[in-house]
Amino acid sequence: MKQAYRAEILDFINDPVLYGLDAMRHFSDGLLVIEAGKVVAVGDAATLLPLLEVNTPIHDYRPQIIMPGLIDTHIHYPQCEVIASYGTQLLDWLNTYTFPAEGKFSDFKYAQSVAKFFIDELHRNGTTTAMVFASVHPHSVDALCEAAGDMRLIVGKVLMDRNAPHSLCDSAASTYDDNKTLIKRWHGQKRLSYALTPRFAPTSTDAQLQAVQALHHEFPDVHLQTHVAENKEEVAWVAELFPWSRSYLDVYDHYDLLFERALFAHCLYLNDTDRARLGESGAAIAFCPSSNLFLGSGLFDLQAAQKHNIQVGIASDVGGGTSFSILQNLSDAYKVLQLKQQAMPARQGLYLATLGGARALKLDTQIGNFEVGKEADFIVIDPDATPLTAQRMAHATNIDERLFALMMLGDDRHISATYILGEAIYTKPFCTLQT
Ligand SMILES: [Zn+2]
Repeated sequence: MKQAYRAEILDFINDPVLYGLDAMRHFSDGLLVIEAGKVVAVGDAATLLPLLEVNTPIHDYRPQIIMPGLIDTHIHYPQCEVIASYGTQLLDWLNTYTFPAEGKFSDFKYAQSVAKFFIDELHRNGTTTAMVFASVHPHSVDALCEAAGDMRLIVGKVLMDRNAPHSLCDSAASTYDDNKTLIKRWHGQKRLSYALTPRFAPTSTDAQLQAVQALHHEFPDVHLQTHVAENKEEVAWVAELFPWSRSYLDVYDHYDLLFERALFAHCLYLNDTDRARLGESGAAIAFCPSSNLFLGSGLFDLQAAQKHNIQVGIASDVGGGTSFSILQNLSDAYKVLQLKQQAMPARQGLYLATLGGARALKLDTQIGNFEVGKEADFIVIDPDATPLTAQRMAHATNIDERLFALMMLGDDRHISATYILGEAIYTKPFCTLQT
């Protein structure tokens, strides 16, 4: 049965950098019509209402905003408990906080409890799709996939066979078998996809990277996720570990790991040869502004990536990042780019968080906007959810001003509802004063 949702509605049909104002569709009084979890129509309410069958339920969200669900292109679910831990940069952060937290995932029940918390937190923040690092334990993938419900997730078991605590290391030999089992179990099940997940070059031997290469060749539609060039000390370490490499990115290139479904987090210390290789290969970048600021890693160069036609998505990188909210991460992205003397209007930010993220994950034929036939993942945003944003909205004179204020000031409090395949899986509880 059809369901109709009436509100101010917006989505992106193209990249605003390339297509300007025409990239965003905006219906100030719009209607989104869903059937069997898919979009069947979107447009002006005045045009679509007379075409609806008389018994179609109409859910009236005016004066709130409906937009496509937010997409987080890089996040670690085992790191929920170390978010906002004090005082370290990347390599110390891993040893001091991350590895002990990930060690707890040897207990399947613990993994299950964190997976449930993690999925709920994504939904509460309006995130409907994420590309996720599990821990090194194969059952950590099972726990997350079982908790995902109908959510669209790309997930992989972390691969590390050196430079990590012994209890967290797998081996080049187990890499092939474990991944093959997980691919067969989860890749293509419901809305789940699998990603080969070497943590980063320093924690994999040549033999393990060769095993990843073999898996990529055997399963070409499986994704790959990893980190590259996040921190200067890390970059110097990679040059020592792989003395034959032209650059950090070149290590992955050597093993044939730059391909369309590959996504590289951070990419702060690339040169133009690296960027040209990413652009040619179709691989994408996860821009992780909150994490890059929190861990003091550096400032991402968005314009340089765009110049080389690299797909870029926005990412929280929790627990290195300090917020699950993609709106908060866009706020940090704006500030990072200000320090690079670059601009990011709201349309560009919200594009990165929806259709841009879908393109980076190569999921744009299924999600990212309200094109007819796409999966109906959407969120309802209340721009007036806090006194501060309500008074700011009252002084905004056009849609761009309102969206910019929302991008700078918005967070989980502004997400009224999150829909997955047309079903409300999160609705913000009403707050009532106790007297
Ligand atoms: Zn990360």
